[in-house]
Amino acid sequence: MKVSENFSAIREKIDAACKKSGRNSDEVTIVAVTKYVTTERAEEAVETGIINLGENRDDGLIEKWETLKERAIWHFIGTLQTRKVKNIIDKVSYIHSLDRLSLAEEINKRAEKHISCFIQVNVSGENSKHGINPVDVIDFIHNLKNLNKIKIVGLMTMAPLTDDEASIRKCFRGLKELQNEVQALQLEYAPCNELSMGMSNDYTIAIEEGATIVRIGTSLVG
Ligand SMILES: *Cc1c(COP(=O)(O)O)cnc(C)c1O
Repeated sequence: MKVSENFSAIREKIDAACKKSGRNSDEVTIVAVTKYVTTERAEEAVETGIINLGENRDDGLIEKWETLKERAIWHFIGTLQTRKVKNIIDKVSYIHSLDRLSLAEEINKRAEKHISCFIQVNVSGENSKHGINPVDVIDFIHNLKNLNKIKIVGLMTMAPLTDDEASIRKCFRGLKELQNEVQALQLEYAPCNELSMGMSNDYTIAIEEGATIVRIGTSLVG
């Protein structure tokens, strides 16, 4: 399938989910997750108008960046090892996987401009999931206050891998509630206006629960 065909189908579902929940479709940005596909396929996405690309490995991001550079806006979405920060920091606009202070310190040390970060939260509590425990998020944010390159633009989570819609919804709703708590702090460095949640299998539920960024790989680019 052409990316453009997948994109139209997804856009329709997004529009329907927005309508159902009384939201505007322009509140939702699609990040095309290109980790499974070639640079050519990523380029096809950009040519379709999907300029936000997500990668979960430094080498995958660098390879595609070499070709596409500023034609795309780059999102790092995967577990980020501290020693790899220097490889990607001048290429990415967003990091979705901030989950520990040592990583925040390294980003702050290496960055030459503001880096928009999402705190990854383990809402579902599954052991296999990375991310900060929800009860620790507020303390974590306070600990970032002197790291002046880091801007907390939002929160990110991954729903449990299950067909049970109720537990997926509960996870997304939990992230939304946490966002409200962070926003109530009114910190200049943590506006937290974004929610990065929803993938190929669950993005419509995520949108109904307030996602502003959905990260879609399989059903968009393959
Ligand atoms: C792979 C990945 C996605 C996309 O997953 P699909 O199911 O292929 O849409 C989204 N977010 C993260 C963090 C990923 O690693």
